[in-house]
Amino acid sequence: QAKYLGGNNIQFYNVALQNQTQYHMEIEGDLRKAMQNHELEVFFQPKVNVHTKRIESAEALVRWRHPSRGLISPSEFIHIAEDSGLIAEIGKFVLLKSCQQAKKWADDDIATITVSVNVSAHQLRHENLPQAVGDVLKRTKLPENQLELELTESALMENLSAATALLTKLCALGVSISLDDFGTGYSSLSHLKLFPVDALKIDRSFIRDITSKQEDEAIVNAIIVLGHSLNLKVIAEGVENIKQLELLERLGCDEIQGYFIAKPLSAADMTHMLKQQTEFTSLDL
Ligand code: C2E
Ligand code: MG
Ligand code: MG
Ligand code: MG
Repeated sequence: QAKYLGGNNIQFYNVALQNQTQYHMEIEGDLRKAMQNHELEVFFQPKVNVHTKRIESAEALVRWRHPSRGLISPSEFIHIAEDSGLIAEIGKFVLLKSCQQAKKWADDDIATITVSVNVSAHQLRHENLPQAVGDVLKRTKLPENQLELELTESALMENLSAATALLTKLCALGVSISLDDFGTGYSSLSHLKLFPVDALKIDRSFIRDITSKQEDEAIVNAIIVLGHSLNLKVIAEGVENIKQLELLERLGCDEIQGYFIAKPLSAADMTHMLKQQTEFTSLDL
């Protein structure tokens, strides 16, 4: 009878839901402690200018160095941090660490590069981002043109007029803005001219099969042409091999990022990589 009424299914669903909620709450609690215990760390992944073959910027990517579970990827905890609002604190931490590190690389005469920091939808909705960014620049003394913010189209689309106003303020501060995961969101192309952005970052999913799938090559080509006609820089993420790199170079892509250059590196490893690139050398690609 219970089966007939679907009782088992409902019960199963409840148990699964409960477990998931519990799991999320556990991670959330752990994450709070992790921040207090300084277990969060900012890694950096180089972006290479296709023309100069030099590292001119790096994306800051947060990692959780868990005492027993090792390095935990943001894909496992960022969405939980977003739902709980913890992302506000994490975001501030990553922004500060990234700016401090970029300033240090310049001060130590290692390299003058731009750092790109990911900003989540929650931060756009609930925080005074221009104020926070302005404060961090002042505090770290990082020149504003060495900071870039990566925002997704979907985060911006939540509230078009608020997003446009926000981007205008950020733009006035002198930081650059790039549209992350470009091509996967729901934005209409016409919004591109509304948003004062500086760069498009083509999503990894279009790069993956670019050398084997004609359609993907066509899409990437179209994004590059579109970006350039709007005077935007175009960056490809997820470049894993030389064939993809060569094709992207041929299509006129400006910057590339991906495992082919380097995986996201600890600050110490990134420092090492930057040191190898002296004033007169460029990467051997
Ligand atoms: P994203 O901003 O699109 O970052 C690029 C992701 O692609 C990174 O994953 C990077 O490690 C990965 N990746 C780079 N090159 C390759 C490649 O050649 N092949 C493959 N398979 N993957 C590559 P990661 O570090 O796990 O970060 C995942 C996402 O988490 C990021 O995607 C971003 O949306 C979010 N995230 C990371 N750090 C932060 C942060 O500090 N704040 C916020 N709000 N979100 C963050
Ligand atoms: Mg990003
Ligand atoms: Mg991305
Ligand atoms: Mg992506």
